[in-house]
Amino acid sequence: MEQEQQINGLLKQFKLRRTPTRSKILSLYLHKKYALAHRDIETTLSEEFDRVTIYRTLHTFEEKGLIHKVYDGSAAVKYALCGIECHKQEPHSHNHVHFTCYKCERTFCIENTNVPAIQLPGNYKTEAIHLFAKGICENCNT
Ligand SMILES: [Zn+2]
Ligand SMILES: [Zn+2]
Ligand SMILES: [Zn+2]
Repeated sequence: MEQEQQINGLLKQFKLRRTPTRSKILSLYLHKKYALAHRDIETTLSEEFDRVTIYRTLHTFEEKGLIHKVYDGSAAVKYALCGIECHKQEPHSHNHVHFTCYKCERTFCIENTNVPAIQLPGNYKTEAIHLFAKGICENCNT
């Protein structure tokens, strides 16, 4: 199976041992292609894994740079799979725009669109800018 290879490849690349939770969550991300909150994952996998295991797995993935936090204005923090773009940058960074669709309510990474630099007055020192756009996504816009 192609996806199995992809999962093994990712785990290997990030020096992570393969566990059932890790491969299941990765397959969910590869399959869905949009940002998922802890709850979304929990709902899908609740019969197999408990929430603490899911939480720990997400934490490990984020620490290793497999996934990144996505701020889309909703109450729950979402995570999205890191793409080629963020691995290209040193240090690993997430400077791309996120897009939330009004129709399907999904949030996507817009990989090749960077957050523009902003000018702040005086002694403000920017460490991160999170920008999300809202509208109709390409899937809903057809
Ligand atoms: Zn990343
Ligand atoms: Zn949509
Ligand atoms: Zn993203």
